[in-house]
Amino acid sequence: MREAGAAVRFAATFTPELLEGCALAIGADAAEAELQALAVACRARGVPVNVVDRPGLCTALMPAIIDRAPVTVAISTGGAAPVLARMVRQKVEAVLPPELGRIAALAERFKSAVRRRLPDLAARRRFLDGVLGGQPAELAAAGREAEADMAFAAALDAADLALPGIVHLVGAGPGAPDLLTLRALRLLGEADVIVHDRLGTEAVLEMARRDAERIFVGKARANHCVPQADINTLLVRLAREGKRVVRLKGGDPLIFGRGGEEAEALAAAGIACEVVPGVTAALACAAGAGIPLTHRDCARAVTFVTGHRRDGGVDVAGLVRPGQTLAIYMGIATLGPLREALVAEGLDPATPAAVVERGGTDRQRVLRGTLESITAEAPAWVTGGPALLLVGEVVGRSARGWAAAA
Ligand code: SAH
Repeated sequence: MREAGAAVRFAATFTPELLEGCALAIGADAAEAELQALAVACRARGVPVNVVDRPGLCTALMPAIIDRAPVTVAISTGGAAPVLARMVRQKVEAVLPPELGRIAALAERFKSAVRRRLPDLAARRRFLDGVLGGQPAELAAAGREAEADMAFAAALDAADLALPGIVHLVGAGPGAPDLLTLRALRLLGEADVIVHDRLGTEAVLEMARRDAERIFVGKARANHCVPQADINTLLVRLAREGKRVVRLKGGDPLIFGRGGEEAEALAAAGIACEVVPGVTAALACAAGAGIPLTHRDCARAVTFVTGHRRDGGVDVAGLVRPGQTLAIYMGIATLGPLREALVAEGLDPATPAAVVERGGTDRQRVLRGTLESITAEAPAWVTGGPALLLVGEVVGRSARGWAAAA
């Protein structure tokens, strides 16, 4: 309390006059009746009160503090488990460099200069993202204050007033937030706008900057998609407004995700576009179900193929060869014609096959069998989540091998 600049008064017994001009009261080491009286009197007067280890009597909690002045981190469990708060504190202590305060002080010294030079909030945020994660901050952390100031001032001089927007086509993976890449996580934290579709990205969206605008363009309940041309136009418009746009797509953006079409549209409009790969469904489903996509004994190649073409037809010509695995996206709706086409290409209908629904998430389900049995059973078995069909000898392997329980 004193460190924070408070005048602290002690009293051996509680009397209500003590609360006169008091900003915060703390009760400890006293008889129960006194602690109760203190709590009641404080409540009546609107003075915040903390009674040590008695959350029920408190209107103010004392969090565990990590002090990197002027940076302060407070950790509270709402009185539920102070020991846990201490454990969390130790962890956070360990990852926050002791020099954090110096970096904050650097930003503080330039605060009004930055506001003057970069009145636009998005431009300012982008500039600060750069310098506080870059060389000026490193110099400040090293205690080289004068050099840090020079580097900061130089960066500020060179800062673009209105940076051009950029679109990142980011793969969100199968939907489990810890299957995001570190780069995707960083970009989600920096984005001004996130344009996303459904594909299991809700938990992933939690990782995004709180005040980032979110625009949903996926299939809504009525099954109406925002037409691709409209999405392209939207991305171009947002980038032209100078925004940092994350176009978040399930799995990998360039695998059956129309990422290529969006990249083309952005290039045609002269807008910078970068692609961040993601864990595609085939990889997530194989890992989750314990199915090796290749195997030295029985699969020398794996093919990612769509279950239906743009015109709705099925095309697997030339894809059936011994010793190969097929990962078929969007194939559940066309299972019948798919089976026909694969058998016509020479595939044995008794070839092991599996359907993995919501692969790589905590709601993953796996149906194993043969192409024949899967074709018959899968339509009634699926529950509306995205599902992938895997066909090949490797599927039979997994049942005997690792992750057989999956
Ligand atoms: N770009 C995405 C694929 C988009 S196409 C990717 O790289 O994964 C949509 C199809 O992907 C779905 O019809 C389904 O076949 C498959 N899919 C996507 N996520 C999936 C998941 N979590 N589990 C199983 N299949 C999935």
